[in-house]
Amino acid sequence: MTTVSPIDSPAADFSQLPLTPAMLANLQQLGYLSMTAIQAASLPAALLGKDIIAQAKTGSGKTAAFALTLLSNLNPRRFAVQTLVLCPTRELADQVTTEIRRLARAEDNIKVVTLCGGVPLRGQLATLEHGAHIVVGTPGRIMDHLERGSLQLEAMNTLVLDEADRMLDMGFFDDIVKVARQCPKERQTLLFSATYPEGIAKLAAQFMREPVTVTVEAQHAGGQIEQRWYQVKDSERLHAVSQLLLHFRPASTLAFCNTKAQCRDLVAVLQAQGMSALALFGELEQRERDQVLVRFANKSCSVLVATDVAARGLDIASLAAVINVDVTPDAEVHIHRIGRTGRAGESGLALNLASMNEMGSVGKIEQLQGRESEWHELAELVPTGKGPLMPAMVTLHIQGGRKEKIRPGDVLGALTADLGYTREQIGKINVNDWSTYVAVDRDIAEQVASRLNDGRIKGKSVKVRVLED
Ligand code: ADP
Ligand code: MG
Repeated sequence: MTTVSPIDSPAADFSQLPLTPAMLANLQQLGYLSMTAIQAASLPAALLGKDIIAQAKTGSGKTAAFALTLLSNLNPRRFAVQTLVLCPTRELADQVTTEIRRLARAEDNIKVVTLCGGVPLRGQLATLEHGAHIVVGTPGRIMDHLERGSLQLEAMNTLVLDEADRMLDMGFFDDIVKVARQCPKERQTLLFSATYPEGIAKLAAQFMREPVTVTVEAQHAGGQIEQRWYQVKDSERLHAVSQLLLHFRPASTLAFCNTKAQCRDLVAVLQAQGMSALALFGELEQRERDQVLVRFANKSCSVLVATDVAARGLDIASLAAVINVDVTPDAEVHIHRIGRTGRAGESGLALNLASMNEMGSVGKIEQLQGRESEWHELAELVPTGKGPLMPAMVTLHIQGGRKEKIRPGDVLGALTADLGYTREQIGKINVNDWSTYVAVDRDIAEQVASRLNDGRIKGKSVKVRVLED
């Protein structure tokens, strides 16, 4: 087993790998200047065609590690499914699809299709009839398609299991084994996971061939994250969060609570103070969850309040701060939580609130991190800057998406070429199957919405509304 520490691995250049010049140029364009530790550890063997078991924490760049491999196995001129990627949830499947599409831009016309439950089968059947190179989906729905014969795997050369630990948690062991048995024997299998529970080796033993195992140590390069602890009474806790936010004014914050009820209470407190905060917990409908994630990632919501379970697999590039509203009783979870700030060489801020009866958990965290906590007083927290914490952008929801052939460029065109706004006033554009989200500067949001409502995108009139809390 190769174990690589993210701290002392030297910067590894993608150009060391057998990738096409077009792919290397595309990586540059995406801002992938050097490999992350797990990419450097897995890609050389993966690109030689070996089966891989790779373990590294969330946010370490696992998707690109398998995406580059499956793309190098792919023949775009052969119009048949050559890769199958299994993911635990629809949301993760969507994220993986997006990342594969970004990386596939180096080649013309690579078709990626997402097949997940909770979406009518009929549309998926039609999509499959048009052909696809890469299928990304959840095990249950992929099984459905295999049983119906709507998904053919004879031409397949790469099987990927993403977030394998989580798929096991969700009880997909048997489905995964069944799917793997229906794949051609001559193939490469890649298994990616954030943790390495016992079940993984058992799963791999069922259908992987002499896998190379690579792990990147879970311990975060602690130096980049400034951690501060504040002792609070339970009655002060939620108010203390808003004191922290008004003092540090982080551009984006992920606040962890131990329970759903605490998430709801905190969001209510923050919203009452005029802050833009949204909650993420298990019971949201998929559509609501999508909206919350889009609004947080496109900088039109400052604070995302989540439980650990809901935040799992969340892909957010850079977070200014993590606030631990409650101390987690599991020290490993603490490391995962704070590892979401201070990524990719940026500095991070982890703010922790602890009451007297959480001191036992604080002790366990100190032990795991091998250092003492730095304590501060709530009294040090004074509001800085002006007024409540407001995000720079606001999200507009446009009815209509990929199924109506709307592309990000169409929306950008309508806003810049047609309506005369500048590119700088427009933020991220997310096109889903049936809806599109575009972030725009806060000052122009209402105006843009009403002008778009009166105007057209791609020659069609559209319904647009401003997403406010
Ligand atoms: P994981 O699957 O390990 O949780 P992801 O694959 O979702 O992590 O990657 C996390 C983030 O890192 C994504 O926003 C991705 O675009 C970015 N990323 C991946 N590889 C690189 C790289 N080599 N350089 C810079 N950013 C990268
Ligand atoms: Mg991932």
